[in-house]
Amino acid sequence: MIIVLKPGCTQQQIRDFCFFLHGKYGVKVNSWVGTQSTVLGLIGDTSAIDIDAVAAQKLVESVKRVQEPYKKANRKFHPNDTVVTLPGGQKIGGGGLTLIAGPCSVESKEQICGIAREIKQAGAAFLRGGAFKPRTSPYSFQGLKAEGLELLREAKKETGLPIVTELMSEKHIDLFLESGVDIIQVGARNMQNFELLKALGKIRKPILLKRGLSNTIEELLMSAEYIMAGGNNQVILCERGIRTFEPYTRNTLDVSAIPIIKRFSHLPVVVDPSHASGHSWLVEPLALAAVAAGADGLMIEVHNDPANALSDGAQSLTPNQFKQTASHLKAEAQAFGRSLN
Ligand code: PEP
Ligand code: MN
Repeated sequence: MIIVLKPGCTQQQIRDFCFFLHGKYGVKVNSWVGTQSTVLGLIGDTSAIDIDAVAAQKLVESVKRVQEPYKKANRKFHPNDTVVTLPGGQKIGGGGLTLIAGPCSVESKEQICGIAREIKQAGAAFLRGGAFKPRTSPYSFQGLKAEGLELLREAKKETGLPIVTELMSEKHIDLFLESGVDIIQVGARNMQNFELLKALGKIRKPILLKRGLSNTIEELLMSAEYIMAGGNNQVILCERGIRTFEPYTRNTLDVSAIPIIKRFSHLPVVVDPSHASGHSWLVEPLALAAVAAGADGLMIEVHNDPANALSDGAQSLTPNQFKQTASHLKAEAQAFGRSLN
């Protein structure tokens, strides 16, 4: 962290301020005293320093971070890729490509079990399906809730596919754990629900953390840091598109987020081309782009009857379309020397 002091500080004020910074934050402070201004360099772990609190000191002209504010999610402190491995051996990260597929919402036993069988055959390693749905309108289908988790459990029993499903409230954590949920999804709308993130830091289940609609990559990594600061290191990041001015897509897939996250963090990255695009015909090209950019996995919405889906039908692939897309993704991964997890 670099601090520029206001002109005209006395030697004594500078010394006192350096002493204060060292005492308060435990960092080493180097100073360069020029004719016009004085610059301080803070060396050590500055992740816990509140930059606004420093900027508010009366001697301070400006402050700049030179080190990322996240530590546990930072590749600098953890050079090797994190690979999330489930007790059943299914992996996200570590070189292979993981396919997660399933409907936006769990609707019935026939629906979820039928889709689970088909996506498994096509090469998916995980089944997704929403039981608690974050809908813009309170009058839209809100999910089957606990019954939805029960149906996911049945689909898992039948196919062996582990389950990814969204948690919206801390009060449901025990229910999710009892229902055998394998990966807990934090949706875009809850990416900065810090109390929820802290609660998820206390458990030992993998978390799929989706990027918020209008959040930066650094904010996503800081949210991962919340979970990891509690001791839960199994975090998977999900790029699902961000809100821009472009109306032809539901969101804009930020392809650059994939190599950027992989450069700055060791956590695996999954891309959701369904919520990024909003259109089923756009899902495959975005999925192919994500793999080319280095994504560790894809999460794709699949529905047996998109026209009558209770949510997100327009962006859902049919099982046959998914089969075709999965075979193209597999061929692409192979071209990069990778295989399906
Ligand atoms: C979902 O995965 O169904 C979902 C609601 O996604 P997001 O939080 O990315 O909008
Ligand atoms: Mn959806």
